[in-house]
Amino acid sequence: MANGAAPGGQRIVPVSLGERSYDILIGGGGVASAGRIIFERFGRKRVAIVTDRNVAAHHLARLEDGLAAAGLRSEAIVLEPGEATKSFAALGPLCERLLEAGIERGDLVLALGGGVIGDLAGFAASIVRRGVRLVQVPTSLLAQVDSSVGGKTAINTPQGKNLVGTFHQPSLVLADIDVLSSLPERELRAGYAEVVKYGLIGDAGFYDWLEAHWRRLFGNDREVLADAVEISCKAKAAIVARDETETGERMLLNLGHTFGHALEAWCGFSSRLLHGEAVAIGMAQAFRLSEQLQFCPPGAAARMEAHLSAVGLPSRIAHIAGPDRPVAADLLRLMGQDKKVQDGQLTLILVRGIGSAFITREVAAKRVLAFLEQETGSGGC
Ligand code: NAD
Repeated sequence: MANGAAPGGQRIVPVSLGERSYDILIGGGGVASAGRIIFERFGRKRVAIVTDRNVAAHHLARLEDGLAAAGLRSEAIVLEPGEATKSFAALGPLCERLLEAGIERGDLVLALGGGVIGDLAGFAASIVRRGVRLVQVPTSLLAQVDSSVGGKTAINTPQGKNLVGTFHQPSLVLADIDVLSSLPERELRAGYAEVVKYGLIGDAGFYDWLEAHWRRLFGNDREVLADAVEISCKAKAAIVARDETETGERMLLNLGHTFGHALEAWCGFSSRLLHGEAVAIGMAQAFRLSEQLQFCPPGAAARMEAHLSAVGLPSRIAHIAGPDRPVAADLLRLMGQDKKVQDGQLTLILVRGIGSAFITREVAAKRVLAFLEQETGSGGC
């Protein structure tokens, strides 16, 4: 299944982007061996570790020990956990700290954390000294299967999520399966939504496999986790290699995201609704709308909703905690901030079935509004 195995049993998934190509190394022990791997690949560079308080408590010391053992000088910058850290308020001081740490062009910014840290540290790495190298050491399942790969960096603004950012490919991704054992279960589930996404987009066989193996994945079975991360990374790497800057096919990776981002914004990017949970609801909405528009035969939506529900993920707005519910017109307005909007027309990722997503600009806003009215009102909940 693996494209290749590194010493120590790590699996290698290459991301082929010409001179910006890099490897994703997947397996156990990646945090402890990061120092050796970085030294072997990049030489004696200075390393600025960007992490958050939660991740630092579990994994920072092991990373620092490994870097020191490899003779690499490092400095850790520990930020507050949470989506609010992906902000202009955090970006400025982070850039200044990287400069104070003496990070030069050939040096490395190492993002040790989930997607929040990866996106923010990646953005900083792309602009400090007009761009320094980035190593991603993703510690959440979501970051291992999605955000650490592909080079998108971003912060949020009051206008919406991920609206300010850059494309800046990492030079290396180290996905250490072992670190997932300290990840809170709710976060593991949220990351699993992005794993399911790869099956739903273009790999019905992987989706079948997930239906059969999800209990082992949630039971922390390392082999199943490594398989799921590897298959997800291969799927993302293939799409990114064909469409690095999202002018076409890469938009498929946004299945569920246009609906989901609107819900996240409505929840104020708070822990009320995690990103992966919003994506889960958004993917289920994409399936329901696809069935209503007769792009997709009946049954697929019910099947994927049943799987989301079995693993404990939400699939409907009614599953969001709290008494208040969004108004359809507000959600449509929030969807209008999506980066895929062209000339005011929404771009939606819809499906012809499980494993068969497609991009469309053909669905009129008033049809989407009618759908959202059902979703937010009594219809279907
Ligand atoms: P996150 O970074 O907030 O991490 C989730 C929580 O888990 C945090 O509290 C974090 O401190 C904690 N955590 C992470 N790893 C841990 C570990 N091993 N042990 C204990 N605690 C741990 O959230 P996330 O779900 O990883 O990422 C979500 C972000 O990723 C969003 O901002 C989203 O927009 C972004 N994203 C980016 C891309 C991209 O292509 N750049 C793709 C998908 C998502």
